[in-house]
Amino acid sequence: MLNVDLHCHSHFSDGVFAPAELAVRAHSKNVDVWALTDHDEIGGIPEARKAATDIGLKFIAGVEISITWANKTVHIVGLNIDENCAELRQGLASVKSGRSNRGQEIAAELAKVGIAGAYEGAVKYADHPASLSRTHFARYIVELGLHDNVGDVFRHYLAEGKPGFVPHRWGTLANAVKWIHAAGGRAVVAHPGRYDFTQLALDAMLDEFCSLGGEGIEVVTGSHTPDQYQEFAKVAQHYGLLASRGSDFHGPDESNYDLGSLPPLPAGLKTIWHDWHVD
Ligand code: AMP
Ligand code: MN
Ligand code: MN
Ligand code: MN
Repeated sequence: MLNVDLHCHSHFSDGVFAPAELAVRAHSKNVDVWALTDHDEIGGIPEARKAATDIGLKFIAGVEISITWANKTVHIVGLNIDENCAELRQGLASVKSGRSNRGQEIAAELAKVGIAGAYEGAVKYADHPASLSRTHFARYIVELGLHDNVGDVFRHYLAEGKPGFVPHRWGTLANAVKWIHAAGGRAVVAHPGRYDFTQLALDAMLDEFCSLGGEGIEVVTGSHTPDQYQEFAKVAQHYGLLASRGSDFHGPDESNYDLGSLPPLPAGLKTIWHDWHVD
């Protein structure tokens, strides 16, 4: 069975490794088909593709687009995209354009609870202010010694409802799917078990996603429990969506699952890669 990992992050967004380092790591972890999916960012794709090709690893160009749906943040992964597509590039630029300002607002909120200099502290961990993420703030707060891991920092400071959380309007579901399709890719709902939606809201989101022509859903991801693998396998079948698998690896100290280390997809699902000629 192929070891397919279609979700991870490099330092072009909030991962800790360079794209080429991820390619080598994926290969060493026995990944057969690998995608880089940085948040709202495709700058790492050429480096990732070259490194993967050099070592004989099948590479899929990807991206993870941040959207706002019913006032909540949802992530839509685009797979097998042409990263040179102008419509996709312009769309991602528009989504990303708010990150730096939002970072200033997060820093202002953190200052109110006694964490000074967080913008400068977070930017040290980011390649560009344009890709500034809550993860970079979390690393800075770990550096300050307030908590010893990024997950705890999210729970205390950065998750919705916590003092450093700033609501933000990302792109729309319709635009994310449209840009991914313009770039020749397939749209995949990322880690559906992680959203704090009611069943009704999740169904409404998936209905809209399907009516927009969205193709896939992550079933086995680093964000799901084994029970959720089964739950979302049924959801994939119910909606006729193609199933995807991805670790969502960010770095060895921050991610539950390393590249290629998740269990396989449950049996009986049509995979997002079924017609990619990867085997
Ligand atoms: P942002 O796009 O800046 O809002 O940051 C979202 C990123 O924060 C996600 O892609 C994860 O990498 C990270 N993140 C979100 N929630 C958590 C959490 N509870 N624990 C650890 N990392 C998280
Ligand atoms: Mn992330
Ligand atoms: Mn995500
Ligand atoms: Mn991700």
